[in-house]
Amino acid sequence: MRETSAIYPGSFDPITNGHVDIIERGLKVFDRVVVAVLKNPKKHPLFTTKERVKMIQEIFASRKEVEVLAFDGLLVDFARAQGTTVVIRGLRAISDFEYEFQMALMNRSLAPDIETFFMMPSVHYSFLSSNVVREVAGLGGSVEGLVPGPIARKLRNKIDRSKKVQIP
Ligand code: ADP
Repeated sequence: MRETSAIYPGSFDPITNGHVDIIERGLKVFDRVVVAVLKNPKKHPLFTTKERVKMIQEIFASRKEVEVLAFDGLLVDFARAQGTTVVIRGLRAISDFEYEFQMALMNRSLAPDIETFFMMPSVHYSFLSSNVVREVAGLGGSVEGLVPGPIARKLRNKIDRSKKVQIP
């Protein structure tokens, strides 16, 4: 039987439990999920592309059905290059809807053979974003339960180091 696969693109700066939830839900539907980490140096991410890829690989080290790759350029081109015709996106609240609707229809007009597949996370994560996690951690708050344990430690180290750099 043919293997089914889907691509899950995002910044993952850093990966949160909301992302993990969507990847796990994706694995219930597809045989393989390719997590595509966007190279976005212009957005000045907290973690480099390499660090973001490595962190996700570590979290899913025991799941060979999860592949983690970095990408730039058009998502639909990357999806085709990976041999997949499905893009997974997570939908948290109504606020995600407008942007996601626009992106899905734009991708459809660029590549009619590619379908966007929306999944809703557990209600526990429906308020969660990487942005909120970075802000809370940056202000010294606990991110326990919001990101996988190893990510919380890396976040603390990264923020401590960037604070040291800022102090003259
Ligand atoms: P963000 O920086 O907003 O957390 P990303 O660019 O990393 O988001 O998101 C990649 C994809 O994951 C998007 O489809 C986004 O809607 C989805 N996503 C992000 N956080 C969550 C969450 N807590 N629950 C469900 N989906 C999420």
